[in-house]
Amino acid sequence: MTNRIPFIAGNWKMNLDHQQGIALVQKLSWTLKDASFDYSKAEVTVFPGFTSLRSIQTLIDADQLDLKLGAQDISAKDSGAFTGDVSGVALKKLDVEYVLIGHSERRQMHSESDEVVQAKTAAAFRHGIVPVICVGETLEELETEGAAAVPVRQTLAALGGHETLGDFIIAYEPVWAIGTGQVATPEQAASVAGKIREAIRANHGEVADKVRILYGGSVKANNVAGFLRSPEVDGVLVGGASLDSDEFSGIARFQSHLAI
Ligand code: PEP
Repeated sequence: MTNRIPFIAGNWKMNLDHQQGIALVQKLSWTLKDASFDYSKAEVTVFPGFTSLRSIQTLIDADQLDLKLGAQDISAKDSGAFTGDVSGVALKKLDVEYVLIGHSERRQMHSESDEVVQAKTAAAFRHGIVPVICVGETLEELETEGAAAVPVRQTLAALGGHETLGDFIIAYEPVWAIGTGQVATPEQAASVAGKIREAIRANHGEVADKVRILYGGSVKANNVAGFLRSPEVDGVLVGGASLDSDEFSGIARFQSHLAI
């Protein structure tokens, strides 16, 4: 057992308008309330698209929900002529506590390099937003380099060059498991998470003991418990299944499946 509180993250990606987002969050919070969900046992965070952030912030605030708010991206810059980008200043104003950085969809479709991921991590630290740094290997990299090499390299690149490290979370997401239904085994996920933690310890010391390392890739309510049984895995980053309030609340309530 560790004293790291499990982190359950729902990445909505480019889905749901703000009204659909409000409906989902309301339903999610009712379902968790009905199940007497204990938020001190797992931190549940939703990551809506930018246009829904203000509505979800208002809902969380007005109804005093225990859900947390995250964003899907952050600019490396704080202001200026960067059309289409969103700054950490603006996100912080919306009570955004977490931000996804380096999701494989951004690395692949927006050519985000390790340098960009490092600069965005620095921006999150500057604004007191906790980066959820996504790392993971493609199928080709898995075959040529094994499972841990790329995620460890990407983790160290994101964490390098900062004067001090703020709080951060690492999400290990094998690219071949994202949105494919082809889930990693709990043993694979635990082994890579362990190697990422070892690398953080070797390079940054005892921060390794408190950093939460998540698994992501085709997580569902019926497979989540397998991942969270391992003390190395401190939560999950969920894409598709986070768009269904019943499924996502089932994932958040993973502790009720642990005994099975
Ligand atoms: C993700 O987008 O981070 C993800 C893990 O997606 P999915 O759960 O749909 O595989």
